[in-house]
Amino acid sequence: MLIHMIKKPYLKYDVIDPACKPVIIPVPGKAVIFFNGISDGKKRLLFKAGDKVKTGQKISLFADSAEYAVATVSGTITDISPYVGNFGKTCTAISIDVSEDDFDDSFGKETAGQPLESVRNYLSCLPGNLPVNNLFDPEKKISTIIITGIDADLLVVTNQHIIKSKQGEIKRGIEILKSIPGINNIVIAVRREFVQGYGHIGAEIRNIDVRYPSAFPQLIIRDLLGKTIPAGKTPEDTGICMISAEAVASLGEAFLHNRIPTGKIITVIYKDEKKLVSARIGTPAGDVLKALNININNGDRLITGGPMTGSCIYSEDYPVLPSTDAIMIQDGNSIEPFSDYPCINCGECIRICPANVPVNMLVRYLETKRYQEAAEQYDLYSCIECGLCAYICVSRMPLLQYIKLAKHELAGIKLTEAANV
Ligand code: SF4
Ligand code: SF4
Repeated sequence: MLIHMIKKPYLKYDVIDPACKPVIIPVPGKAVIFFNGISDGKKRLLFKAGDKVKTGQKISLFADSAEYAVATVSGTITDISPYVGNFGKTCTAISIDVSEDDFDDSFGKETAGQPLESVRNYLSCLPGNLPVNNLFDPEKKISTIIITGIDADLLVVTNQHIIKSKQGEIKRGIEILKSIPGINNIVIAVRREFVQGYGHIGAEIRNIDVRYPSAFPQLIIRDLLGKTIPAGKTPEDTGICMISAEAVASLGEAFLHNRIPTGKIITVIYKDEKKLVSARIGTPAGDVLKALNININNGDRLITGGPMTGSCIYSEDYPVLPSTDAIMIQDGNSIEPFSDYPCINCGECIRICPANVPVNMLVRYLETKRYQEAAEQYDLYSCIECGLCAYICVSRMPLLQYIKLAKHELAGIKLTEAANV
């Protein structure tokens, strides 16, 4: 709901219904696991179609690759092929014909009495997407962890549910995180009314404002720690690691039960309703919708993520990932199309932008692909990608897409330059 005040209008985060319990989605017949990395045609493949995998098994796909995935189902690999996502981002999709769970016990054996870093390769696919590489990157020097107990996008209540339902697992997860050398401060950012019983959790509890987009990392850090993340930098660049409540609970669960958890909590948003589900990572989005009796009609949009920042997906085969907090179906009849009207300089986007970006000027450069000037003169990198400017734009300009594309193009140019040095 958009609330108008004398100064700026604002949108408010939803509060989870305490009675809301996740619907359990059956384990799928076919699952797809994404692996970060692709073959350059020269690397030897360590797995092939016909090979069997166990639930919880650590998989390295190519010889000499530092990347790992974890099988979230048991079964037979049917296909290994490249997958191209938004903005040309590539990974490798491993398709599996699912059979009854046969649990791999290597994690339990390898973790006994060992430091967390020795089992880091099992943890990269935990539900909630634990940022393992950042936590153990010596360059980053992480000293503060902020656990986010509220989802950044509107309507999504996945992490609110975790905070309410997984207190024991979060407590254990915090103990484990504290064992990482250099960590001296752990804060839980949450709506205060959700944390009865959290007195001895082992972290400081801090309250988040109800207004969107106060649960975005840069704003949490500004509001709770009084620090500003410089434009173009990440929280990790300043020694702060953001971790979702679900990732912390999954970490705790893995060590409490000596087994890698494989079920992801997701908020499914459809028309005016939202439901929580628990689905195996790798389950196709279409299977989740089928279990909820939701049909997608011609013209509807299937989106991963929430209404402000989610991304369209173009196939119901797209799987639930460790980071999938929401699946949204936008009714085709209610979609307001973007337009090719020009900016009328109304100034609404500037008024609402939490990062004070001069969006009306920025967009002129982005429309004409003058990305470098947009970054240098009009604060492209100060944008936190909350989508409020696009939401309020009277000309229905696709402002967030312009911004994301510009950052992606500039990142590509930097990579090419670095490769040519
Ligand atoms: S998405 Fe728009 S409103 Fe949000 S920070 Fe970026 S420029 Fe500002
Ligand atoms: S809200 Fe849209 S039309 Fe108005 S100034 Fe911003 S970009 Fe231009």
